[in-house]
Formats: sequence, structure tokens, C-alpha cells
Amino acid sequence: MVERQSIGQSKTVRNYVDGNWRDATGDDELTSVNPATGEELATVPFSSDADVDEIVATGNEAFETWSSRPVEERIQPLFRLKMLLEEHQDELAELLVRDHGKTLAEARGELRRGIENVEVACGIPSMMQSGSLLNAAPDIDESAVRKPLGVFAAITPFNFPGMIPLWFLPYAVATGNSFVLKPSEQNPLVAQRLFELIDEAGFPDGVLQLVNGGPDTVNALLDHEGVEGISFVGSTPIAKLVYERAAQNGKRVQAQGGAKNHIIVTETADLEFAAAKAVSSATACGGERCLANDVILVEESIYDEFTDLVLEEAAAQVVGYGLDEETDIGALISSEHEETVRDYIQAGIEEGAELLLDGREVAVDGYEDGNFLGPTVFGDVTADMVISREEIFGPVLGLAPVADIDEAIDRMNESRYGNAASLFTGSGADARKFRHEAEIGNLGVNVGTSAPMAFFHFGGWKDSFFGDLHAQGEDMIHFYTDKGVYIERWPDA
Ligand code: NAD
Repeated sequence: MVERQSIGQSKTVRNYVDGNWRDATGDDELTSVNPATGEELATVPFSSDADVDEIVATGNEAFETWSSRPVEERIQPLFRLKMLLEEHQDELAELLVRDHGKTLAEARGELRRGIENVEVACGIPSMMQSGSLLNAAPDIDESAVRKPLGVFAAITPFNFPGMIPLWFLPYAVATGNSFVLKPSEQNPLVAQRLFELIDEAGFPDGVLQLVNGGPDTVNALLDHEGVEGISFVGSTPIAKLVYERAAQNGKRVQAQGGAKNHIIVTETADLEFAAAKAVSSATACGGERCLANDVILVEESIYDEFTDLVLEEAAAQVVGYGLDEETDIGALISSEHEETVRDYIQAGIEEGAELLLDGREVAVDGYEDGNFLGPTVFGDVTADMVISREEIFGPVLGLAPVADIDEAIDRMNESRYGNAASLFTGSGADARKFRHEAEIGNLGVNVGTSAPMAFFHFGGWKDSFFGDLHAQGEDMIHFYTDKGVYIERWPDA
């Protein structure tokens, strides 16, 4: 086991290569800042092409041995990793809050969702099996097999630094591949700690590696002939670039993009419940969730009543430092991103939406340097408005009246995105219509935020996803393996 790299003391993020901590050797670097306090947390040096070359070569070397180890052996370090993640969950959650700005409850929930993926991947001995058939033809038996492929990489965003790497990593190595993580350069500290725990869990050197950096590091991975496949999660423009570039280079690729998600509320819904879930979905994690539902389409007959409930609920949200237990909405990732969200609020006002609750003047005592925005609610948001079409990624929601569920579904389906949506209703017929007609990957009925458990796949449609196999669960087994068939004849002598 290598010595733990104490971030608190050295304040420099490092790569994890071939079982050792190494300095990245690129020219650029970034400073990671606590979004609530402004405190500098770490320097993030970016990796050079030579760093990527070394990591990929090491990964390929490790693959030679790892891929031929018995599957039971491959999952033992995953069991240990699960135990370590649970043992260190509180510490990781605190680090996550300091590096991201979200609340402690959100951080704990995110880590739990990540650990779930490690648990599912421990079932690889069953999940990786394929079918076989005796006497498929005269004297012939046939069996299908799945084989690992080599080095895979995942490029992940800032908003779930504890969970999203675990959508991929456990499945990649359980199936026999080696794996490289390139976390968001904005908040890489949780990945750094995760790899300290990975080191402790005892994976063979080179099977799991960490490379820090920005776009150049991503491009070096996308162009590297030693990389078999790429998983990407981030904004739509970058997801599209990554998808195209990786595919041009002959790699497997799955690329999750951005979102604009809707909630539909019908007059048969439990309105108080729906209002609480809608506000939480739009504003939790500061609205920085790809599953945040921030356009709420409400049947006209209940629009005024529901709007009042939403305003009551939104006004009660406590904005503050994520480490304070009473905080509901933490800080946004950076001052630049806070400005972007403020620009969206201004655009909403200029386009004529009704500003019902304005979060721009929020002040958090003792945290004057934090990137805080209070919950902001617009009414009468029309389909053509920018705040109705574009991903805001802040605690801003818009309400709009609709004649009925048909109009709501039509409006929702006009979006270029298709990540998530929820319906609140007491009608099974409405629920069925929604399920059949929504052009969206993750659908919830009477559920505020439709995030599938790790044993189901996770991925959107349309411009929210490029590729075919989604993250998590069984899709990961297909992504990380190639299929083969054995056809055998052993005639009786
Ligand atoms: P981002 O696209 O800015 O960055 C994501 C990753 O891409 C980072 O690791 C970054 O280093 C890299 N990157 C950035 N610019 C690049 C470039 N020009 N070339 C190559 N690589 C580049 O996204 P973000 O701001 O970190 O995350 C927020 C976005 O992620 C939102 O749009 C959100 O909806 C989306 N997201 C989607 C899902 C999903 O499942 N669909 C989940 C989480 C987040």
C-alpha cells in the first residue's frame, strides 16, 4: 500500500499510475476552490500527452494478466472497496461538500448511489454469463461468451464527483478490463480520495488508474490507439464532440449529455406532495443535477393553487453552507457558473416570464465569498423562452399552465433533450399515456427525481445521450465486453 497522499497538507492533486502517486507533467493547472467559502483547496496540475501515454501503456500491460484471472478473484478487491467506501462515507461526504458545494445529505445520498454500483458489479460472475445450447446441430454444442477488451476510460463531470465514476469503474474491472478515470478538473478531490481507497482495496497495479487534466487530456485519451472505449458524462456540446472523435478513432463510446427536464401535474394529483417534490427536484444540489426537473407544466384548473404551494415550499428552502445540517441549497460550483445562472434569470425577466420569487439577493452570513443563489421561481413560462428550452443548472424553476396532459406531453417532447420527466397524477390512464408517449429515458410517476437504481441502466434520449448502451447495470457488461460464439463437434469415437 502506498502512503496516503494528504490533500490537506500538500494541496496538490496527483495522478495514480501503476499503483503509485505521480505528478502530472502538463503545462496548465487550475486551483480547486471551496464554492461556499472561497478557500483554496488544492492545485490541480494537468497531465501531458506523455502522462497519458504512460498510463495507457501501463493499463494495457496490466490487462494482459488481469483479464485472465478467475472472475471470483477479480471481484474480491471490489468487495473490499465497498467496505472501505462505507467505512469512509462520512469523511468522503464532507470532502465532497467542500469541493462541490452541495449539502451533506445530497453528498451522502450520492455516495450511497455510487456504492450501489460496486455492489452490483460484485455480481459479475452471474451477470457476465452468456447462453449455451447442447445439440444446437447434429453432434454440435454451441455457447456464447463475453470477453474483456483492454483499457477503458471515463471522463466525468463536476456535479456528482463521488457517484458518476462508479457508474463505470466497478463494471470495467470486474469484467476483466483495466480502467482510467479523468475526473472533472473543477473538483477532483473526491476522485483523489477514492483512488487512495482503491489502493487500499488491493487491485493489482495498473488495473485502475487516475489521470487529472482538462480538454487536452481528454483529447489525448480519445486519440490514443491503446484505449478501447470511452464513457463520457458532461454537457451536450462536449458529449457530441467526444462521441464523434472517439467513434472516428474506432472506439466504443457512450456519451451522456445535458438535459432540460419537465414535471407534469394533473388535477388528480396530491398537490402538496407534488409541490414539495417539484421544488426539491429543481433546487436540490443547487439545481446542478442532470435530472433536475425545472419546467413544471400544470393543468389550468389547479395552476393558481399549485403555484402558491410551490412558492410556499421554495421560500422555505434554507440556502447556506452544505456542511450545516439545516442547509437545503448549497453553493454553486464557481462564481462563473453563478453568473451564468444569473444571466438566465435576467433572460427570463426580459422575455416576459413572471418573476414570482427572486433568489438573487440571498445572503449567507459568514460566507460572503460563496457562490450562493436562492430558489427562484418564474410563472407563465412559455415554450419559446430561453429559460424553458435551455439547461440552467441552478435553483431556478418555471411554471406554466397547460390545458391537459396531451398539451403537456407535446410541449415536453418538443425539447431537444430527453433525459428525465415526472408526472404527478392520481389517474392510471394519465400515467399510462405518459409512459407510452414521453420521448424520454428516465420517467417517474409520483416520483420527483427519476434516478434509476444501479441494477437498472441510466441514460437519456435525444441530445441527452449519444450512443446505445447506457451507464450502470447490465448495459455496462455489454459495453465492456465483446461477444463470441464457440461451436464444437466431438463425435463419439
Ligand atoms: P463539461 O462538459 O463542461 O465537462 C465534463 C468533462 O468534459 C470534464 O471532465 C471536462 O474536463 C471535459 N471537457 C470539458 N470541455 C472539454 C472539451 N472542450 N474537450 C474535451 N473535454 C472537455 O460538464 P460539467 O460542467 O462538468 O457538468 C455539467 C453537465 O453535465 C451538465 O450539462 C449536466 O446535465 C451534464 N450531466 C449529465 C448527466 C447525464 O447522465 N446525462 C449526468 C451528470 C451531468
